[in-house]
Amino acid sequence: MKVGILGGGQLARMLAEAGHPMGLSFRVVDPKSGASASQVAEQLVADYDSAEARDALAECDVVTCDFENVPAAALEALAERVPVRPSAAALAAAQDRFVEKSRFQQLGMATPAFAAVDSRPDLLAALDRIGLPAVLKTRTMGYDGKGQAVLRDREDLEAAWQQLGGRPLILEQWVAFDHECSITVVRGADGNKRFYPLSRTWHADGILRLAVAPCPNAGRLQAEAERMAGRLADDLDYVGCLTLELFASGNELRANEFAPRAHNSAHWTIEGARCSQFENHLRAVCGLPLGDPGLRGGISVLFNFIGELPEVGDWLVVDGLAWHDYGKAARPGRKVGHATLVLPDRHALDAARAQLGDRLPADLRGALDRILPPGDGRAGPD
Ligand code: AMP
Repeated sequence: MKVGILGGGQLARMLAEAGHPMGLSFRVVDPKSGASASQVAEQLVADYDSAEARDALAECDVVTCDFENVPAAALEALAERVPVRPSAAALAAAQDRFVEKSRFQQLGMATPAFAAVDSRPDLLAALDRIGLPAVLKTRTMGYDGKGQAVLRDREDLEAAWQQLGGRPLILEQWVAFDHECSITVVRGADGNKRFYPLSRTWHADGILRLAVAPCPNAGRLQAEAERMAGRLADDLDYVGCLTLELFASGNELRANEFAPRAHNSAHWTIEGARCSQFENHLRAVCGLPLGDPGLRGGISVLFNFIGELPEVGDWLVVDGLAWHDYGKAARPGRKVGHATLVLPDRHALDAARAQLGDRLPADLRGALDRILPPGDGRAGPD
């Protein structure tokens, strides 16, 4: 089978890497030549909504996306000629933060308090209702913390409005969560669903930096996250992998957003799960049986590299470490690669931490130590 992918970034690259052993071939469309996936798949350099892209993708057996902001009209036109999975409607559901959170509420999923903001009076009214601190976000095209301004006191209002005003916005309550986590579900066209273990995530400046799976002391959170993600996937008649990002406070989860595609917080599944999110996404969109999302090792830790990659040889000295270089040029704020540690237990993690030493940047080490304190093997993940 030939799989067409709109977008040729690292997600498309990892989809192709997962699909090759299953005999799948890939054609990616991306307007930027030399996209990350072009090193492992055929790339057409074209705009997503061009006739050229449509014709090239219509020759594939199925089409999927590596990012959610593909113009819905381009997908709908394509869907008349070739199966598009997940559907244009499922992607559209994630493109507008207000529409997305309204759907969560309709489905009985808790969210941070939120309100649509189209004008200054809207913003003042929303602030009166939601209170401070709050975060003002663009409704569309935001990712990795872009298009957001945190309001800690009334004096931040003017700067936030200068930065973002004039576009459709959403004001959200700033949640003082205990931690963030995310769940990935894969759903087949027949409605069958399988869930990955929750990943505990840590972001800095809105960008994912670290994920640990399974989420330590998840307790009831796993079942609640499955309920939420499962309901959403069914409601969207979703086909493929979907990740729901959540804020955890005690035993309560609030839904922040979902990604209708493979997601960074589940990259650890490549080595840490029996069937990765990439393979399962492909299995689902190609109509193949879904794979086992269960753990392969005891603990997986994903480190994201932002801006530039460290020296690969310095990190490969660590047993149980896998390296992913996305083949992208270094640039501040850009995701250029990741490394995953898959280890049997907390003792092995302590050994890996010692081996990594100073190579692990202080902020990542601090976050890991907070999530899984060194020498605390007795309180292992449940
Ligand atoms: P987003 O682009 O909405 O995924 O936001 C990126 C990150 O910013 C999240 O993963 C959180 O760390 C933080 N964030 C976003 N919205 C909120 C919120 N309402 N309350 C607290 N933190 C938030």
